[in-house]
Amino acid sequence: MEHPLYIYNTLSRKKEQFVPLHEPHVGMYVCGPTVYGDAHLGHARPAITFDLLFRYLKHLGYKVRYVRNITDVGHLEHDADSGEDKIAKKARLEQLEPMEVAQYYINRYHHAMEALNVLPPSIEPLASGHIIEQIELVKQILAHGYAYESQGSVYFDVEKYNKDHHYGILSGRNIDEMLNTTRALDGQEEKHNPVDFALWKCAQPEHIMRWPSPWSDGFPGWHCECTAMGRKYLGNHFDIHGGGMDLIFPHHECEIAQAVASQGDEMVHYWMHNNMITINGQKMGKSLGNFITLDEFFHGSHKLLTQAYSAMTIRFFILQAHYRSTVDFSNDALQASEKGLSRLMDAWHHLEKLQPAATSTVEVKGLREKCYAAMNDDLNSPIVISHLFDAARAINSVKDGKATLAADDLKELQDVFRLFLFDILGLADETTGAAGDSSREAFSKAVDLLLSIRQQAKANKDWATSDKIRNELTAMGFSIKDTKDGAEWKLNL
Ligand code: ZN
Repeated sequence: MEHPLYIYNTLSRKKEQFVPLHEPHVGMYVCGPTVYGDAHLGHARPAITFDLLFRYLKHLGYKVRYVRNITDVGHLEHDADSGEDKIAKKARLEQLEPMEVAQYYINRYHHAMEALNVLPPSIEPLASGHIIEQIELVKQILAHGYAYESQGSVYFDVEKYNKDHHYGILSGRNIDEMLNTTRALDGQEEKHNPVDFALWKCAQPEHIMRWPSPWSDGFPGWHCECTAMGRKYLGNHFDIHGGGMDLIFPHHECEIAQAVASQGDEMVHYWMHNNMITINGQKMGKSLGNFITLDEFFHGSHKLLTQAYSAMTIRFFILQAHYRSTVDFSNDALQASEKGLSRLMDAWHHLEKLQPAATSTVEVKGLREKCYAAMNDDLNSPIVISHLFDAARAINSVKDGKATLAADDLKELQDVFRLFLFDILGLADETTGAAGDSSREAFSKAVDLLLSIRQQAKANKDWATSDKIRNELTAMGFSIKDTKDGAEWKLNL
C-alpha cells in the first residue's frame, strides 16, 4: 500500500500507523451489547464504526478475526429497587430461563444489525458461556497477588497494582482523584478500598444466574469477560480492541489492569473508541424520554420522530461524522442524510446506464486515490462521502449531456463508486434493492426484465399481459411509475 493506514490509538493518544502483529492476520475485539432491552442508537454507532474498520481491513487483504461479545451476565446493571440483575429479574417474574430472556434480545439485536448492513463478527461469544475462562483469569490475578478474597467475592487490589504498574494509563485518571469520586456501592464494606472492582461476586440467595467457583457460588465481575474471551480467541497479544468512549473508564481501564496483573503485560496493541451520540443536543437516557430504539427509528414510532427513518439513513448519518466526533441526532439532520443518500444512490443508477464517449471532459483519475487517502487517515468516512458527492455531480453532468466520459474513465468511476459506497461504507439502496451485492442485483435485474416485457406487451397492445405484470408487482409491494423511456420502480417494504 502506497499510503499506509493510520488509526488513532487511545492509549498513546495519537494516530499511529497500523502494523499487525502477525500479518496478514488481524485480531480485533469489540465490546458488544449488554442484552437487556432493544438495541438503540448507542448500539448502532460502535457496531457501524467497527463494521467500517472490519470491511476496510478485509478489503486491504488482511485476514481479520473479529470477536464481538455479548454480555448476558455479570454486568452489574441492577434493578434500582431490588438490586437484582435485570435479566434474572425478568426471568423470575415471567418464569423464563434467563437464557430465554437473553436469547430474545440477542435475536432482536441481530435483526437490527442486519438491517443496518453490519456484517456479523467472526466469533460472537457469550459471557455466560465462558465462566471457566473467567474463573481461570481470577485465579491468575490472585496468584500474582493483585486480588483478594472477601466474603466469597474476589476484588482487584487497585492500590497494590498501581504501585507496580499504572492504573489509569488509558483514561488518564489518577487514583487519588478516583478515591474522591467513587460513590458508595453495595458490598462496599467487603472491599479494602472503594476503587477496587469485583472479579467474582458471591451470589445472593435470589440470584439465579450463578456458578460454582473456588470462592463461592456466584458470577464473574463484568470486566473479566472481555479479558478472558479476548485472550481465548485472539491470544495473549492482539491488534485492536474497540468500543464506545463511555467504556474507557472503568471497563477498558480494568481490562488492561486484569491483563497486566494476570500475564505480566498488556494484551492490546491499538485501543480504539468511537464518540457518543446525543439527541437534540442531550445525552440519551431513559429518564430524559429520548431513549429511541432502532426499531422506533425504522417505524417512526417515537414521539420525538416526525417520520420513520430507514436503516440505511441511520447508517449513512453515522458515517457522515468521523467516528471520533460527537453525533447529534435530530429530525432535520436525519432528513438531510436521507436526501444525501438518495442523491448518491441516484448517481449510482445513472452511472450504471451511462454510455461511454470518445474522450472524457471530467477528471475521474484522482478519485480512487483520494478515497483511500481519507480512509487511511483514521477512517475518515465523511471525507470519502464528500468525494463521492463530487463524483455524483460529475455523473449528473454527463447524464445531462454537459460532459462526457471515455470508456476507461467510465469503468473506473463505476468501480470506485461501487467499492467505496457499497463494499467499504456498507451502504445499500433500499428503494430498488440494488445494493452492489450480487443477489440483490440479480433481483433488481429480474424486476427490470419483467418491466421490459410489460413495455413490449404494451407496444403490442397486449393489455392483458401488461396489466397482469403491473397489478401483480403492485400487489407484492412495488410501486411502478411510467416514464417517457419506460418505467421506474420502487419496492415499498
Ligand atoms: Zn468489554
